[in-house]
Amino acid sequence: MQQASSPIEPPPSPTLSASQLSTLGRLGEQRTAETGEVLYRVGDRDYPFIVIVEGEVAILDSAGNEIVRHGASGFLGELNLLSGQTVFVTAVVTEPLRYIAVPREVLRTLLYEDGPLSDVVLSAFIARREGLQRVPGLGLEIVGPHSSKATMRMVDFARSNRLPLTWLDPERVGDPAVAALVEGLDEAKLPLVRLPGGIELQGPSPGEVSRALGIGRELAPREEVDLLVVGAGPAGLGAAVYGASEGLDTLVIDGTGLGGQGGTSRRIENYLGFPAGISGTELTSRAVTQAVKFDARLATPYRAISLEPGDGRHVVRLEDDREIAARAVLIATGAQYRRLPVDNLDQYEGISVFYAAGPPEAQLCGAARVAVVGGGNSAGQAAVWLSRGGALVTLLHRRADLRETMSDYLVRELDRYGVAVRDSSEIAALHGTDGQLEAVTLKGGERVRFSYLFLFLGALPCTDWLGDAVERDADGFILTGAGAGADNLLETTVPGVFTAGDVRSGSTKRCATAVGEGAWAVQLVHAHLA
Ligand SMILES: Cc1cc2nc3c(=O)[nH]c(=O)nc-3n(C[C@H](O)[C@H](O)[C@H](O)COP(=O)(O)OP(=O)(O)OC[C@H]3O[C@@H](n4cnc5c(N)ncnc54)[C@H](O)[C@@H]3O)c2cc1C
Repeated sequence: MQQASSPIEPPPSPTLSASQLSTLGRLGEQRTAETGEVLYRVGDRDYPFIVIVEGEVAILDSAGNEIVRHGASGFLGELNLLSGQTVFVTAVVTEPLRYIAVPREVLRTLLYEDGPLSDVVLSAFIARREGLQRVPGLGLEIVGPHSSKATMRMVDFARSNRLPLTWLDPERVGDPAVAALVEGLDEAKLPLVRLPGGIELQGPSPGEVSRALGIGRELAPREEVDLLVVGAGPAGLGAAVYGASEGLDTLVIDGTGLGGQGGTSRRIENYLGFPAGISGTELTSRAVTQAVKFDARLATPYRAISLEPGDGRHVVRLEDDREIAARAVLIATGAQYRRLPVDNLDQYEGISVFYAAGPPEAQLCGAARVAVVGGGNSAGQAAVWLSRGGALVTLLHRRADLRETMSDYLVRELDRYGVAVRDSSEIAALHGTDGQLEAVTLKGGERVRFSYLFLFLGALPCTDWLGDAVERDADGFILTGAGAGADNLLETTVPGVFTAGDVRSGSTKRCATAVGEGAWAVQLVHAHLA
């Protein structure tokens, strides 16, 4: 074991109260372990929730570097204990241990019932996952060049699912050993993906990786359900919780992962009930736990590619040759970021141009010159987050006054955290080498040095997959209610097909409204099925 060599400051380790320890003691098994014993290791498929009564445990990465230690009244585990993902770290006893081992399923049930315990455990698991995302060399290893579309899709998939990952781009790392790993492999065999524990996959789909990691349920070639929700952002998860809790056989699918755009937000300040704000990751984890508690089935990554309205059942076809026949469908596919209209953007995307600012990006950008582009609240949040992480941040936006598009509180935060704001600024060209940005040229001709760019330019609706199945407005958002000749506000031109959230024409693009519409749609689905 190499002591405390990780450069990462681990999140504070919470402890459990005496009464929580005694509850867990009743539900779990009392065990002991000697110094040096391994409780679980990288690549294991499963492990119990471990609560330390006495002694100490060190958490190590796959190379044996120590990340953190946990002592008496503390507990082990991170998000994979809930999702069932393959284990990313190794736990080794460093002082003789007395502990309680609680089976994963028992913990899940307890989290539904015990609010205070659920708060402590969920928050710690989320903070630990964020910490692990910053540890170099941990989790998935993706080997493939930036020029390979399949490689970039895999990197995007891992990032949006918040999986710890190391991406080795043979065109950029300059290490012959990395180049040798993928030498001679054609595009169909890229990327090479190494899973924790050593399994290697050549050219896998995100679905194959997801299932190899133990996440995501496998759907049958044809499924039949009462309610199919397409999209697992706030609207889809809202519908999942209400649909399943009110007795509908509910299946939610998402082409990427769980949480949607809301899941990428660093801090949602305007969501009712969270006066100090809540991160998108935490809101998503809580919503998923709640949906699963009510037996909603969540399946990712499954992308819908068409909708065929039918009499009695509508059929949604998915990638990977699967179809779902549903008595009612809720389209909650939200919207996707807009790209910058400049040449060679794709050469930089994923290396120095990003559409979300999470812990790995903040880590990458420390002390670097960063531009955040956009005038909305999402741009403001990202700028503050990156600046707090030590980046030198400039916010570029088109209008003359930022207050026209950004909430006042965020404009004040930008000032407080030293973010420079440039009004009336648009990017005309990018300059750099091998995907690493060096500078941008603004429309007025000025050249400004930036190493990273974060784009928050608004969004386009994810509706291409629908073809002519439902009517849409001129911008592609789905028409409902009077605009669609339907009786109620969330129904589309096809009876039994509803829509909620950002993808709906005229909706307010906010988390709370998306959740509210998802919940409301369930009421309408019930009425339709009756
Ligand atoms: C960085 C950022 C910060 C934000 N901060 C705030 C905030 O502070 N407060 C606030 O109120 N709002 C905020 N928003 C806006 C808020 O996140 C959105 O309004 C909200 O997420 C909309 O929810 P939704 O469920 O309608 O769609 P989305 O969240 O966009 O979810 C749609 C889901 O559908 C999936 N999907 C798309 N197409 C398909 C397909 N063909 N098949 C299967 N699945 C598909 C996508 O993968 C996605 O997961 C923020 C947005 C961003 C990007």
